[in-house]
Amino acid sequence: MIGKDKIKSLAGLRSPAGTFLTVTLSTSRLDDWRQTVPTFLNSEFSRVVKERDLDKKQERDLQEDVQRILDVQNYEVDQHTEGIAVFADGAGGVFEQVALPMRLLNRLVVEPTPYVRPLIHALSLLEPFVVVRVSRDESSVYLIDEWRVTREDDLTGPYLKSSDRETGDVPVKEYFAAARQETLVDLHFKEVAVVLDKLLDETDARRVVLCGQHDIVANFRRALSARAAARVTAEIPWDAAQSLNQMLVSAREAVEAARHDEMLKLAGRIREGLSALGHGVAGFDATLAALRRGQLQTLLVERGYRPPGWRCLVCDHTVLTPIEECPVCGGRTLRVEDAVGEAVRTAVINGTFVEVAEQLPDLDSFGRIGGVLRFV
Ligand SMILES: [Zn+2]
Repeated sequence: MIGKDKIKSLAGLRSPAGTFLTVTLSTSRLDDWRQTVPTFLNSEFSRVVKERDLDKKQERDLQEDVQRILDVQNYEVDQHTEGIAVFADGAGGVFEQVALPMRLLNRLVVEPTPYVRPLIHALSLLEPFVVVRVSRDESSVYLIDEWRVTREDDLTGPYLKSSDRETGDVPVKEYFAAARQETLVDLHFKEVAVVLDKLLDETDARRVVLCGQHDIVANFRRALSARAAARVTAEIPWDAAQSLNQMLVSAREAVEAARHDEMLKLAGRIREGLSALGHGVAGFDATLAALRRGQLQTLLVERGYRPPGWRCLVCDHTVLTPIEECPVCGGRTLRVEDAVGEAVRTAVINGTFVEVAEQLPDLDSFGRIGGVLRFV
């Protein structure tokens, strides 16, 4: 499981020796990971030792951390796990492992702080959401978290409820006048809406997908609270021939499409706000500076934007052009593989919303990273 609080506490850690180790690995059965991971980790370790000019103690500590991660490959990973992220700083007493239901690139990063960006990307893909499959007879409310149903509430409508199988009572359908039936259906919809509200109270789910025949869904919408109604992002048809899993895949696609629309609007807002007194900021340097000032409400980064950079070992100042000495504090710098990782980490610590997106023409046009300012 992966939570925002966990990522935030990780992001705030710092290795006293400046050698915090982050490793991400694919553990998908498609990759022969138990065979390839040891070679990968050992060769990456040698590379880092050579590049970083570590002293003997640093090298030994780092080697112990790598060894501990090598042991991870002997673990049994459960069938849903396709990727593992490990955060280790033995000298600082840290060893955290996060299992994810998605493949991760094999990567080894040694920086003063944890490289949390892959977790933020995972969070955006694994966003929890709710699906309400609604009919007049029987409805279900599903919570989907990390791509799996983690909670299901089934509610029986008036028809099934009153057709007592044991006594063979006449179903309500033949029993009540049409008007009375409608009232009972409305009551059923209200019950479902109450369950939905409760779920929204208890979880982080921000989006709801409704599934059913369009006219029935339209009636059900009237039973929703204003808050639940505002969270409905999509409606998908109910196909009785579909399995639950197929329905959930359609729901996930609908959530992703809704999210992409939102990101298009966010990038548009940033672009429009790039004037002198606007609320937009764009490009690596300006965005990182705004983050450092605590001025950024939302950070938007392109999923594949990973420019190398130079980061100050003392004050974390990071730039995209090679420098040996930090222009802010005069400290020594370190070449990092992904400078945007430092922007994402700063955002997480500050409580700035981080959005990850791709295929946004506006975002491309202003440098693949930008944000919305809280104040100008
Ligand atoms: Zn500095």
